Amino acid sequence: MKTALEWKKYYSSPEFREHYIYDNDDLGVSCTDSGTSFKLWSPSADSVTLNLYHEGDGGAAYAHIPMKKEDQGVWSRLFDENLHGVYYDYSLMFGEENVRSADPYAYACGVNGRRSMAVDLKMTDPEGWENDRAPEKGTEQIIYELHVKEFSWDPSGGFPEQYRGKYKAFTCPDTTLYGDGIHPTGMRYMKDLGITHVQIMPAYDYGSVNEAGKDTEFNWGYDPVNYNVPEGSYSTDPAHGEVRIREMKEMIQVLHSQGFRVIMDVVYNHTYSLDSWFQRTAPWYFYRVFDDGRISNGSACGNDVASEREMCAKYILESVLYWTEEYHIDGFRFDLMGLMDVDLMNRIRKALDERYGRGEKLLFGEPWAAAETAMERGAIPALKKNIALLDENIGMFCDDTRDAVKGSALKIKRPGFINGAAGKEMDIVRSARAWCASEEDSGRDEEAAAGVRAPSQIITYVSAHDNQTLWDKLAETMPEADAAERMRLNRMAAALYMTCQGTLFLLSGEEFARTKNGLEDSFNAPIALNRLDWKQAWENRSLVECYKGLIALRTMLPGLCDKSARASERICNELTADGLVSFEVDNRSADGSERWSRLRTRRGGERQYEQKVDLR
Ligand code: CA
Repeated sequence: MKTALEWKKYYSSPEFREHYIYDNDDLGVSCTDSGTSFKLWSPSADSVTLNLYHEGDGGAAYAHIPMKKEDQGVWSRLFDENLHGVYYDYSLMFGEENVRSADPYAYACGVNGRRSMAVDLKMTDPEGWENDRAPEKGTEQIIYELHVKEFSWDPSGGFPEQYRGKYKAFTCPDTTLYGDGIHPTGMRYMKDLGITHVQIMPAYDYGSVNEAGKDTEFNWGYDPVNYNVPEGSYSTDPAHGEVRIREMKEMIQVLHSQGFRVIMDVVYNHTYSLDSWFQRTAPWYFYRVFDDGRISNGSACGNDVASEREMCAKYILESVLYWTEEYHIDGFRFDLMGLMDVDLMNRIRKALDERYGRGEKLLFGEPWAAAETAMERGAIPALKKNIALLDENIGMFCDDTRDAVKGSALKIKRPGFINGAAGKEMDIVRSARAWCASEEDSGRDEEAAAGVRAPSQIITYVSAHDNQTLWDKLAETMPEADAAERMRLNRMAAALYMTCQGTLFLLSGEEFARTKNGLEDSFNAPIALNRLDWKQAWENRSLVECYKGLIALRTMLPGLCDKSARASERICNELTADGLVSFEVDNRSADGSERWSRLRTRRGGERQYEQKVDLR
């Protein structure tokens, strides 16, 4: 076999690019009553055999069928019958080497995703799926980040025992605290809070949890195995490939019917392991390598997917469109978007706009990477510094606002405006303007999000699954403060970021002082620590009420909801003094109607833990 670097040179050659870039969108398996088609892209294989199985795991293949070599690196096989429910994988020969692989393009798989499954997708639709519609997009989007298992794991949620930790828990919209019938939990609670979008943490098939293992196994799931298949451990039966598909659709269907849009957290920047279906079927095509032969590791997870290569870009684009089309997903949060290239992100935006209407599907991501990456051929990374090159409707998580309000997420002892840092006043004003440039801003810090054109490019937040929860950060930076004092600071943090422009985002439970006991990275910590504690949501009800009120207020204020390029002009007459920030919001609606045409806010800092909003 060639070395990684030799492969890289080969894939970059005009000869390869001319002959092996496949144009059609029919890779994978199409399975209907009119027949079943298998297509795999493997430009360097000498032969490919399709193996068919009755089971998704164990047992020998009942058939070994040679695939036919087509143009552009494609191998194909067509059957007259509907092979729904048949499991399969491929045996590929590269010279003398025999490689077994599942299908990187698969839509279904067996337990733990090691074997693919042919699926007639129509047969996985829950009842009424053809009538499933996302709720109308309201005046403002409030995104609530949620993990499938964390949502319903704790007994306090009142979910049926057999659904706890599963997609199925989302089919129970009327849960209450321990089933007391009085205190809403789960979806009823979220509805009452006023959030509009539920962002589901990774729910594609990932590798870090054994789907045949104990129910208590936990991981966030940022380790993709099968990009186009739902994760099996959240289903009631991971051994039968169609079950997880139906149950995920049911989850989305009920979320929609309860008034929420659904955002999917996608991790196209790396795979669980370098020994992936990508690698086994097209060695080193889908991964970045430095020119000195080092394997690119900008993800800090062992590999970087080469989004800038044609067939890889095609894969990612088609995968996004598949989730919108088949699962009715309403938006995408790109993990480490800074490892994707600007061109691909803009192409995805354009494709979504063409199909669904401009800006209808949300698209945003983390505009950073964990380390240097070996992006090639002059591709430009979708990093914060390149925000000006991204479409106006591609958002980025704004670490500047996050850190200005509560202090650095990475340097945990460092405070922000609310917990006593000096000199943050102007950053709070800039946060309010979603970092869109204003004239007096010309001398600002180059590191800050330069080049933001409109608040639609900014995700305004102070907590996410990464790093300490807001409550833990307050404890870390204000060890001398008692619980009442921290509650006051928490309310102030919420009031600050909820009166900033941009799209609002919060980690589930931020509004009830969620804690992970100070842990910064709980990706594989026990579910007992990670789970949402619905008891706490009622113990800290006054904080929840504060969030609820702020969300309701914000939604009534066009001056803050405005996502247009001129929105920053609505933040005016700012005054800052040591520990004090004040500004006015021009609150006229685009249609000229007025509601509190001027809104003045004052934010006390180090010495005045108070927030006052005057409505005029
Ligand atoms: Ca899995």
